[in-house]
Amino acid sequence: MSSKAKPAYVGIGSNLREPVEQIAAAVRHLDAVEDVSVTACSSLYRSAPMGPVEQADFINAAVALRTSLSALELLRTMQAIEATMGRVRTGEHWGPRVIDLDLLVYADERIKDAELIVPHPGIALRNFVLLPLREIAPELLIPGLGRVTDIAVDEKEPRIVRVDLQGEFL
Ligand code: ADP
Ligand code: MG
Repeated sequence: MSSKAKPAYVGIGSNLREPVEQIAAAVRHLDAVEDVSVTACSSLYRSAPMGPVEQADFINAAVALRTSLSALELLRTMQAIEATMGRVRTGEHWGPRVIDLDLLVYADERIKDAELIVPHPGIALRNFVLLPLREIAPELLIPGLGRVTDIAVDEKEPRIVRVDLQGEFL
């Protein structure tokens, strides 16, 4: 990849069809993209679903990558991976999903348009976004938010636990 590659962080979530497998597959899909190189991957975190829909627990993780794609190109690539992996967009905001890829941070960029908000608002609002990111990038300076380690964990959010896995994940 070109030396112009920029660092980015992606949050991954799933609560359908063997979520642990889905997340591993999503990481492989991301790393397989020609212009993307995954450099770090967090542990998996299990949490109770939010909102009114009765559904299985979620598994979440975060990855660090380097990419020569723009933020929007990276988002489109992530959406293509979601589609490949069989995500069907039902329009139900809190509903179950086989895979969800969210662009958390893209270099030092701040973007707010109809399609893409970066840094992702969930970082400061959701433990299942913050905790995996904190594990792989505690010192990261997030534009507008400060250092990852300094962002407060929400004590009121449903319980979240780190999943310890045997063997290799990637
Ligand atoms: P959510 O992740 O909020 O549960 P979706 O995955 O269905 O829901 O995403 C809904 C929309 O969020 C997408 O159409 C996408 O354009 C938009 N979006 C805005 N900012 C981001 C981001 N940083 N990462 C991923 N999607 C984003
Ligand atoms: Mg999403």
